[in-house]
Amino acid sequence: MKNVTVVGAGTMGNGIAHVFAMNDFKVTLVDINDVSIEKALSTIAHNLDRLIQKEKITSEIKVNTLVNIQASTDLEKSAREADIIIEAISESEALKSKLFKDLDRLAPDDCILASNTSSISITKLGAVTQRPNKVIGMHFMNPVPIMKLVEVIRGYSTSAKTVERIITLSRNLGKIPVEVHDYPGFVSNRILMPMINEAIFALFEGVAGVEQIDTVMKLGMAHPMGPLQLADFIGLDVCLAILDVLHDGFRQPKYAACPLLVNMVSAGQLGKKSGVGFYDYTSRSKNLAVAKAFR
Ligand code: NAD
Repeated sequence: MKNVTVVGAGTMGNGIAHVFAMNDFKVTLVDINDVSIEKALSTIAHNLDRLIQKEKITSEIKVNTLVNIQASTDLEKSAREADIIIEAISESEALKSKLFKDLDRLAPDDCILASNTSSISITKLGAVTQRPNKVIGMHFMNPVPIMKLVEVIRGYSTSAKTVERIITLSRNLGKIPVEVHDYPGFVSNRILMPMINEAIFALFEGVAGVEQIDTVMKLGMAHPMGPLQLADFIGLDVCLAILDVLHDGFRQPKYAACPLLVNMVSAGQLGKKSGVGFYDYTSRSKNLAVAKAFR
C-alpha cells in the first residue's frame, strides 16, 4: 500500500494525513469544502513546526511530509488511484453510506475501504458495497500524531486478510492496533461517551460547575484532561452523534444524550473547533464559556 486517500479534512482527517505522509505514503486529502482543506494544510504545517521545536523531527522531515500530501476536491480521481481509502467525514450514517457506495464504484477492486467512524456500524457500511470483505474500521484517536491506539473494527463480513493488512499497516505507522468486534461505539466510545454524558448531566443538574467536575476527574481519577474539556476537543456534535448511535443501537435509556448537550450543539457551541464549548478558546487563555446557569 503506497497511495492513501483520506476523505474528510476536519479534526481527524488532517491528523490521519499527517501521520501517513510522515511515514512516506503518498496522501491525497479530499474534502467537499475548500475552507476545510486550507485549514487542514495549515494545521499540519503548524503541528510539524511544533515537532521541530520539540526536536522530535528535522525541518527536512517537515518538507518531505508536506510534499507527500496533495489536497483535492475531486473524489473520483483520488479514489481511482488509491490502494486504501480512509473515510473521516462527519459522523452521519446517511452521509457515510452514500460515500461508501460512491467509493465502491470508483475505487480499484482490491482497494480497502476503511472508516474512522467513532461508532457507526462497519457491517452496515460494508453492506452498501460489493466488497464487504474489504470494509473495516480504522479508528484513530485524537490528536492522531500523538495518540498510539488504533481501534481496528472487524465488521460481520470483514475478511481475516483485511484485518491482518490493517493491523500491519497500523504498526508500520508506529501505532498500536487493538482488534474489536462491530457493536455500537465499539469499545472506546461505548465506555467513554456515557462518562462524558454523565459529566454533562452532573453540570446540568447543578451538582458542580465545569471546572469542579473536570478537576475531580483529573486529580481524583488521574485523567490527563477532564471529561468536559475532552468533549470540547472531540467536538460536541461528534459526542452527540455517537450517543445517538449508542441509544439507537442498544435501545436503552441510559445512553440518551443530556438535554444540555443537545442545546449546546443546536446553538453551534461545538467546542474547540467552533471556538466555544464548555470553555472559550477564542482568546489565548481557556475561559469558562458554558451558559451562566451551568457554570
Ligand atoms: P469534522 O467535523 O472536524 O470534519 C469532517 C469533515 O468532513 C469536514 O471538513 C467536512 O467538510 C467533511 N465532509 C463532510 N461530508 C463530506 C463528503 N461527503 N466528502 C468529503 N468531505 C466531507 O469531524 P471529525 O471530528 O474530523 O470526525 C470525522 C470522523 O472521525 C467522524 O466519523 C468522527 O466520529 C470520527 N472521530 C472523531 C474524533 C474526534 O475526536 N473528533 C476521534 C475519533 C474519530
